[in-house]
Amino acid sequence: QSLNLANGQKRKTLIILGSGWGSVSLLKNLDTSLYNVILISPRNYFLFTPLLPSTPVGTIELKSIIEPVRTMIKRCKGEVKYFENSVQDIDPISKNITLNDGKIIDYDYLVVGVGSKPTTFNIPGVIENSSFLKEISDAKEIKSKIFKNIELASALENGDPLRKKLLSFVVVGGGPTGVEFAAELSDYIQQDINKWQPELQNDISITLVEAAPNILPSFNKELIQYAEELLSSKGKIQLKLNTIVKEVDSNYLKGLIKEQNSDHMEHIPYGVLVWATGNAPRDICQSLMSKLKQQDSRRGLLINDKLQLLGAEDSIFAIGDCTFHPGLFPTAQVASQEGKYLANIFKRLHKIERLAFEKKIRKIEIPDFKYKYKGALAYIGQDKAIADVVTFGKTYPSAGSLTFYFWKSAYLTMLSSFRNKILVALDWTKVSMFGRNSSE
Ligand code: FAD
Ligand code: NAD
Repeated sequence: QSLNLANGQKRKTLIILGSGWGSVSLLKNLDTSLYNVILISPRNYFLFTPLLPSTPVGTIELKSIIEPVRTMIKRCKGEVKYFENSVQDIDPISKNITLNDGKIIDYDYLVVGVGSKPTTFNIPGVIENSSFLKEISDAKEIKSKIFKNIELASALENGDPLRKKLLSFVVVGGGPTGVEFAAELSDYIQQDINKWQPELQNDISITLVEAAPNILPSFNKELIQYAEELLSSKGKIQLKLNTIVKEVDSNYLKGLIKEQNSDHMEHIPYGVLVWATGNAPRDICQSLMSKLKQQDSRRGLLINDKLQLLGAEDSIFAIGDCTFHPGLFPTAQVASQEGKYLANIFKRLHKIERLAFEKKIRKIEIPDFKYKYKGALAYIGQDKAIADVVTFGKTYPSAGSLTFYFWKSAYLTMLSSFRNKILVALDWTKVSMFGRNSSE
């Protein structure tokens, strides 16, 4: 790429960190011919997270929900360099980043879109004994644990107490990740396991543990009640509400059950444990926060209304789950709108710099980012979903089978590549015709 633009002005270097919802949305909307663009991410693909909970039980194949970075950058207007690497350090004073292999790269502008890591609240035993559900590797790990335990249990005599333990699937966290995964697992057991291995039926259990009095707190009350009733109908999923997990060992969770008159501890046995209690900042963000005297923020990088990082407003922007800003939630919806907004901001910044270079005077405003809530969706099992549907600025609750078809069509629309849309549609068709792929 040439160092200068056609008018002789120096081409500025824009480094984008991450290949998730925020960074990919920026990349797809950016005029990459205006900057020397470098994308850095350890993950050489974009992951469509809304369908990740469907993958550990084989409803959706992992390859159907990933889009390679290389195909995305090929479609960009200007050249984009991609390094498959992690950023280890960001120096906001010298304006450079250090990669894991020690390589140092200078930037004029930096966009931090590195997402978050799963939180454990430092509860003892969580990291050693549970699986998260955030990345492809997590989904593979859960799948392998589920199938391994089913095979181990099948080899045991009926009535052997170990069978019950191996087949106790416990999910901690009643947010959308935990609920959607528990619902997918329940579907798999009802529709596939009970058909092919009915002898296991009496020993299998799914427990969803939630600290708050209700699951899915971001949805409205009627939808929460509908979801709780459907999930727990016919004992398919045991909901343990008001239960705060305090400790985990290799066999049990210790849950503090909050009751009106007294609190008590309960031991909850498990064979496979999935931990979905939300997000925490990555180490790279914690280090940046302390350099910028933001260490009081425990939830993420502090940004202003223009998504500029507080303390480094002139050169660093931050988007998505790695940030904290009132009114902006850690969702794909927010991250992708932020990415699109930044693409427009970089166009304006380029125009401002071009006018200054050509010594022309014209005022160009940088507008604030305005988040537009477009509704929320969650799959709750048995071909049913719940949704907050937004039409003409008003939110309407919706639940049931029709909402499930809305959920499916919304995700098919949101999948950006034609290849992914076809693969996901084929996966759903295959499941309805032949059941799930329960081999690894
Ligand atoms: P991410 O998408 O997490 O991307 C972060 C990127 O940064 C990754 O490419 C990562 O590899 C890279 N990275 C990490 N460390 C470094 C480093 N040191 N240097 C460089 N790169 C780095 N939201 C919704 O709105 N709707 C949904 O239905 C929905 N479903 C979800 C289901 C699941 C199972 C999960 C886990 C989340 C779901 N979310 C959903 C939330 C949504 O996925 C996140 O809000 C979204 O991914 C945030 O986008 P992001 O770009 O900030 O981070
Ligand atoms: P979350 O933060 O939404 O929910 C975590 C849940 O874990 C909370 O309800 C919390 O009370 C519970 N919890 C915390 N500590 C606990 C403990 N010790 N014991 C028992 N329960 C405990 O996390 P998430 O579900 O991973 O979602 C993360 C983000 O991703 C959210 O912003 C969410 O909206 C988004 N997301 C959206 C969708 C969707 O829209 N369908 C799906 C998945 C994730």
